[in-house]
Amino acid sequence: MSKDVDLPNRRTVMTTAGAVGLGLAASANAATSRPPAVDAGVVSDGKVQFPPSSDPSDSQPQQPPNPDPRDKRVGFAVVGLGKLALEQILPAFAQAKHGRLAALVSGTPDKLRAIAAQYGIPADCCYGYDDFARISSNSAVEAVYVVTPNALHHRDVLAAAKAEKNVLCEKPMATTAHECRDMIAATASAKVRLMIAYRMQYQPHAREAIKQARGGKLGDVVLMDMINNQNQGDPAQWRQKRALAGGGSLPDVGLYCLNTARAILGEEPSEVSATIWSPAGDPRFAEVEDNVSFTLRFPSGVIANCLTSYGTHRLQRLKLMGTSAWLEMENAFAYEGQRLRVAQLVDGKEHNAELTIPAQNQFALEIDHFAQCIRSSRTPRTPGEEGLQDQVIIEAIYASAREGRPVKLERIVKRDAFRGAEPEAAD
Ligand code: NAD
Repeated sequence: MSKDVDLPNRRTVMTTAGAVGLGLAASANAATSRPPAVDAGVVSDGKVQFPPSSDPSDSQPQQPPNPDPRDKRVGFAVVGLGKLALEQILPAFAQAKHGRLAALVSGTPDKLRAIAAQYGIPADCCYGYDDFARISSNSAVEAVYVVTPNALHHRDVLAAAKAEKNVLCEKPMATTAHECRDMIAATASAKVRLMIAYRMQYQPHAREAIKQARGGKLGDVVLMDMINNQNQGDPAQWRQKRALAGGGSLPDVGLYCLNTARAILGEEPSEVSATIWSPAGDPRFAEVEDNVSFTLRFPSGVIANCLTSYGTHRLQRLKLMGTSAWLEMENAFAYEGQRLRVAQLVDGKEHNAELTIPAQNQFALEIDHFAQCIRSSRTPRTPGEEGLQDQVIIEAIYASAREGRPVKLERIVKRDAFRGAEPEAAD
């Protein structure tokens, strides 16, 4: 071969092939007027979905959020502009797909004006507690989210029912079972929905734990270990006052242990026993309790050991012990940072692995669930009856500690006896 024949080198071949390839793709696109299907997505019922671009051996990316158009979403009025509302709930509306922030209710006019300006809420959608009744004529508001201190939930839910608005109420539902029954009756007679904001039942890691426990992945669940502790500060805050809080660590943070244990099994406890201890002379515990240790016995034989404290460093942990595996959730009851591990024998060797589950905003998920239940006339997963059952058990826990004996609870055979529609799969 002569030396001066110009042979294409590898780079020239690749460039030429690329150009031909692009040319073909361009003419194909010109013919169909759209990019290759893998990029275009598919529009169905106003929603965009992409075909999988990864091999099934890789985890698949989440689909786009596909929010409802603004005018189709359920408008919420948030009642009580305290820490939870400002730090978690109002920001969560930005991630909600079916609910939107439509109105604000506060007893502090300068705070109301400042927050309304931040979130673009017009003056005619801002209310005080005194003129809350006016909200009944605001058609932009279909639901009210009650985020006031525990003892005020009864007052605020009744006011929302009177205004014929659906109500999402923060936990604990109220401070007595009597109040809870009243709230259920008031919303039922106003023909509006009532949901208690048990965010854990919408949280993706907790839902996975429920799925694993109920689906037999752990064998039979035999024991549960639940801890929700935090260290309270200022003794003057409402959480340390019985009249506003209803109790101490138990109805505030211990409630997560109780509600999550019930939700994981779908069973109702048949007996509780409890011990309460508060340090003498600590002004934080002059009116409400510090430490509560309570045990729930379930009809299937499962025992849940629960610990809650208002006076120890924050710890939020859950462990399910089954006959063939255990599952542990770190930061179980926190706003974020949940981590789920499962340990079991695989091929004769102990295998302890973390499941990677994408984080999602729990408040946005619960707001969206309620919005979808309103739109589709369904009972929410955590209706008033779910909150009442927790309050009945809380009262039995206090009675057990007071009387120093186990307390039997009404036998309830039906599974998920107080729960409504399953939370939606991610859509
Ligand atoms: P907070 O004290 O920060 O806010 C309470 C709000 O209620 C304040 O804006 C306060 O001005 C208002 N309020 C109206 N009337 C009042 C009155 N008579 N006395 C005192 N305050 C009055 O409390 P928070 O931490 O926002 O808790 C509010 C509710 O949310 C409680 O029921 C609590 O249990 C619940 N919460 C739930 C979670 C959760 O993760 N789901 C977390 C924190 C609090």
